[in-house]
Amino acid sequence: MLQLDFHPSGRHFLSIPGPSPVPDRILRAVSYPTIDHRGPEFGALGRKVLAGIQQIFKTEHPVIIYPASGTGAWEAALSNTMSPGDTVLMFETGHFSTLWKKMAESLGLKPEFLGLPGVEGWRRGVQADMIEARLRADTGHVIKAVCVVHNETSTGVTSNIAAVRRAIDAAGHPALLLVDTISGLASADYRHDEWGVDVTVSGSQKGLMLPPGISFNALSPKAIEASRSAKLPRSFWGWTEIIEMNKTGYWPYTPNTNLLYGLSEALDMLFEEGLDNVFARHRRLAEACRRAVRAWGLEIQCADAAVYSPVLTGVMMPDGIDADAVRKTIYERFNMSLGAGLGKLKGRMFRIGHLGDCNDLTLMGTLAGCEMGLKLAGVPVAASGVTAAMDYLASHTVPVPVKAAA
Ligand code: PLP
Repeated sequence: MLQLDFHPSGRHFLSIPGPSPVPDRILRAVSYPTIDHRGPEFGALGRKVLAGIQQIFKTEHPVIIYPASGTGAWEAALSNTMSPGDTVLMFETGHFSTLWKKMAESLGLKPEFLGLPGVEGWRRGVQADMIEARLRADTGHVIKAVCVVHNETSTGVTSNIAAVRRAIDAAGHPALLLVDTISGLASADYRHDEWGVDVTVSGSQKGLMLPPGISFNALSPKAIEASRSAKLPRSFWGWTEIIEMNKTGYWPYTPNTNLLYGLSEALDMLFEEGLDNVFARHRRLAEACRRAVRAWGLEIQCADAAVYSPVLTGVMMPDGIDADAVRKTIYERFNMSLGAGLGKLKGRMFRIGHLGDCNDLTLMGTLAGCEMGLKLAGVPVAASGVTAAMDYLASHTVPVPVKAAA
């Protein structure tokens, strides 16, 4: 029998790249009594979170909040902008870009999957020059959208979205730009308006530090215009009615009230720390993690330092070692979860999450669990990654943010 009420001493170390640990402040907010979603109090909450989330996406245009996981927001992005049979150019960076492509197929679109050959494409970011060359060749403008994953959670690669925008513009192509930053938002720098993104897809359970259950579409005026003539069927996902009702802070259906309390608290936390400080914290912890992996003598899944993810680090196992067996040892001995290798990388690597509500000591706990587990599982470890990470963190200090007295 599954014992959901059994917890070993101490907290479970949730070191997967999302869902990330939910801070107590947010857990408390989520537990407020549910209110009438048509009443006056709700409108104030709705208006607050809708305005706040625009600042996180760095947009002045509408952001749709769905009571759904990220997969729903993927579907919403495609079904609001595309028509049956439309060609979409999708770039293969890993498991999540592959799943989005499969969804496009099942919605009746024609995805063209561009990418580097073999597993190499799962070690690098989006190649903007390949997108530009493909769009230049599409003189009849058959391609209706370019779809890319900003932070590929299956590999630990953060692609350059501004470069993709420049590639589309350089080709003089009218395709929409659709970006998945489900695991990048509020951990890695993201600029919806400045980068000319038409629809950005994201979710609650990563950098926003919320439980799973809400997801987002940030829109551009061009995407809203496209939705007026797009013919894919949609009802629950349709933007028009939601945008209209959101003007006063309400939704056409019952929204996820308690998660919106959580979102309100998460926005307060992120703005108190300052988004640039949040991004710098993630970059610093990611660097410490990579130093640990190198000290162990293991390879980092991302092979291009220019696109290392600040959110997670993929750790490749030496030949003959089953990464899932290592994860199992760590789970059973140290009560810690690590991300599994997905798709082509199943059993070949594990993923260390360092996102959301994380700090020096949570990362050090995670790395200590990994180092002990690697040794127990018989993985040859060259040197102490824990020491390498500690040395880096101790010599690259940042002040712990202190809340200003009122
Ligand atoms: N895209 C990326 C990059 C993800 O990391 C995930 C989930 O981890 C998804 C899409 C799917 O989102 P969800 O599992 O919330 O439906």
